[in-house]
Amino acid sequence: MQDLQKGAILVLSGPSGAGKSTIIQAASEEIGEYYFSISTTTRSPRVGEEDGKDYFFVTKESFEEDIKAGNFLEYAQVHGNYYGTSLKPVREALEAGKLVIFDIDVQGHRLVRAKMNEITTSAFITPPTLNELETRLRARSTDDESVVMQRLENAKEEIRAVGEYDFTIINDTIDDAAKEFVIVAKAARLKQSQEDEEKFITHWLG
Ligand code: ADP
Ligand code: 5GP
Repeated sequence: MQDLQKGAILVLSGPSGAGKSTIIQAASEEIGEYYFSISTTTRSPRVGEEDGKDYFFVTKESFEEDIKAGNFLEYAQVHGNYYGTSLKPVREALEAGKLVIFDIDVQGHRLVRAKMNEITTSAFITPPTLNELETRLRARSTDDESVVMQRLENAKEEIRAVGEYDFTIINDTIDDAAKEFVIVAKAARLKQSQEDEEKFITHWLG
């Protein structure tokens, strides 16, 4: 069955501060081998963030050169900064049959759907309410007041896209949200593309 191995994409979106990084971290042991797509951004690193681990932090000029060179699978402007997914590592991970996890915004999700719908599963992650999001963003205390306000404004728009996703994960307790995330990651791996379906049928028929 090795030749039938194929990659799959799991897109996670949700307001900044929804708990996406926390949930991936909490579930990482249980979801098996996966490749987390490290995005490139022009925003400044937060305290504790590392270049090449959380993001590739680059200048606006460098980002715009990559756009021109066609190096992004998708990119978008979020909160006034560029964020993008580089094509090459994603392609390699998919060719190696891995589950590729993206933490991207709703615009990015639409672009990935347009290009790779067949192998894509998606989940929208959110705290139970806008109020709770505000509490968590303030508790994280990595952003100054104007940035927090901007993220809350953005969240009010982003929540309207919740229906575009296959699954919604309400991040009330980390434990429960991580359990749901493990189920979603398993479902993402089981998603069949038409191309693989044909290979599978040929193999099955013997
Ligand atoms: P995102 O990656 O979506 O921007 P984070 O994972 O950084 O969000 O989470 C935002 C903040 O909320 C962090 O300080 C995190 O520790 C906290 N947090 C995440 N999930 C929960 C939860 N279920 N209950 C309370 N705080 C949480
Ligand atoms: P943050 O600044 O909190 O890390 O991320 C802000 C927003 O940008 C989040 O909604 C996050 O999902 C989104 N984001 C991060 N990387 C990418 C990316 O590569 N592409 C797109 N479209 N959005 C991204």
